[in-house]
Amino acid sequence: MPLDNDKGKYIWMDGKFVPWEDAKIHIASHVIHYGTGVFEGERCYKNKKGSACFRLKEHTDRLFNSAKIYRMDVPFTKEQVIAATIELIKKNQQQECYIRPIVYRGYQELGVNPFTCPVNVSLMTWFWGKYLGPEAADGVDVMVSSWNRMAPNTFPAMSKTCANYMNSQLIKMEAIKYGFVEGIALDVNGFVSEGSGENIFVVRNGTIHTPPLHATILPGITRNTVIRLARDLGYEVIEDMMLREMLYLADEVFFTGTAAEITPIRSIDKIQIGAGKPGPITLALQKEFFAILTAEKEDRHGWLMYVK
Ligand code: PMP
Repeated sequence: MPLDNDKGKYIWMDGKFVPWEDAKIHIASHVIHYGTGVFEGERCYKNKKGSACFRLKEHTDRLFNSAKIYRMDVPFTKEQVIAATIELIKKNQQQECYIRPIVYRGYQELGVNPFTCPVNVSLMTWFWGKYLGPEAADGVDVMVSSWNRMAPNTFPAMSKTCANYMNSQLIKMEAIKYGFVEGIALDVNGFVSEGSGENIFVVRNGTIHTPPLHATILPGITRNTVIRLARDLGYEVIEDMMLREMLYLADEVFFTGTAAEITPIRSIDKIQIGAGKPGPITLALQKEFFAILTAEKEDRHGWLMYVK
């Protein structure tokens, strides 16, 4: 999906609204050379009550947590970043969009030491449809990657940092070259971790399982959403280390993520999962998730922030 077809008119850069075409940084910025940045991926949905950002507060909290781990002092408050996000969506007149905040080290010096470089903040918006392709609703075909997720105490998985996405890119490129839409990475001990840009859930005998944080996953906000909705619906959800073969023996497997939303998986390594189509619990969770987003059901957890 080329950005140019779907981009917002303005980008918010360090407090200013800059036309998309002019939102540039210097090639000597620290982030370009060393991946010195942390970011978020958020969505704003149009529903019958207006346009609403989903869990914007939690995403902003995670952005600041990601920055804290890397000793980056964000030169704006969380409230300012949230207000700027809402302002940007209004200015871009987008009723529905994907939102990408990024906090990065800019231009000053190019030693590895990042402390001398400024911390810059940008927000952009664009339209983003189904992340794993238009047919994702029927279930996607994926593989277990030959690449592992990073080991604990190497690259912190709880920080959504730019550099971690080099690992994600290895997983994603391998999957695409082998004819799959996505790869599932194991952790360094061989337990199931997550997709290159999604968390993963397995349903077996009516119980929902998902890997815990110590399987070096990103603490996904959609993951948290699905756990809460599943418990609301009366399902048991277990966060526990997961053997690779649990994937093959599952009744249902699905990905969660802001971009991917809830995407059913119909095969892994060319082994059919369950009936090879979205299963009843996956469908029930999707239904509940979208009922809240579309305001068909009450926003009982206070997850929607309307753009007013
Ligand atoms: N894991 C990784 C590696 C991701 O990039 C993402 C997308 N942000 C997720 C999980 C899902 O997180 P969330 O639901 O917060 O978008």
